[in-house]
Amino acid sequence: MTQPAMLEEAVITLPSDQEASGRSFGREEIEELVKVIESGTLTCTKGTACATLEKRFAELLGARYAIACASGSAAVHCAIAAVDPEPGDEIVTTPITDMGALAPILYQGAIPVFADVDPYTGNVTAATIARCLSPRTKAIVVTHLFGNPCEMEPIVELASKHGIPVLEDCAQAYLARQKGKHVGTYGAVGCFSLQQGKHITTGEGGLCVTNDPDVARRIRLFVNKAWGYGDANPDHYFLALNYRLTELQGAVALAQLAKLPSGVDQRRAWPTG
Ligand SMILES: *Cc1c(COP(=O)(O)O)cnc(C)c1O
Repeated sequence: MTQPAMLEEAVITLPSDQEASGRSFGREEIEELVKVIESGTLTCTKGTACATLEKRFAELLGARYAIACASGSAAVHCAIAAVDPEPGDEIVTTPITDMGALAPILYQGAIPVFADVDPYTGNVTAATIARCLSPRTKAIVVTHLFGNPCEMEPIVELASKHGIPVLEDCAQAYLARQKGKHVGTYGAVGCFSLQQGKHITTGEGGLCVTNDPDVARRIRLFVNKAWGYGDANPDHYFLALNYRLTELQGAVALAQLAKLPSGVDQRRAWPTG
């Protein structure tokens, strides 16, 4: 059967973030990769690419610390682990998010309690979170859905009134700001993903940001089997996995990070219909 000519012409091939047409890989990534491979050091415990990435990402967001890790799910897991819930503690979160933001709650023995979302934004609000708080609430995890930030000031105000940390899942909200401040820096921890479909990517990967040195240390330990790198008498201090990013990923991330602001501008410039 032949297609009418007009319909055939109407087929447009859109860029896809699952291959080169919708990604921004180029010479910059290759050059960073060559440096890492020639260095002979592919582990972030000894190399400099991941450490440089952490420094630059923290600077870009205006956070004190950034810690690279294996995925966005790992980043959320690090944030939950930093809060260190007791079995049965409750963590208030959103029902509209990635599974990678929920599984870590269960892995740390806590119970997700789902706050309603605003029907217009799809985001949780201070009012919907307030209805879910209990004496067992250990943390609040918000997701800034589709790059649109939750209203953070009232959420942080509510949380601090109850002495509960707020963890921000920013996997879809790189460089989103509210009142001039980047999301990810409102709460105790901001979590980001470097998975193939995100604004910038290393295939898989993640980042946490925080301003609290104790939280930063706890996250870094959780990424490193809780081994106290740099300590006088290091040990495995608690139960944790290997959630490290490799230097190969760190190299690609460095080149990708430089392209993040222009990538976000490009997304913002596209007509939304
Ligand atoms: C992608 C995503 C994650 C998980 O990130 P991975 O790197 O795929 O593990 C978590 N939360 C949100 C909101 C996401 O979009």
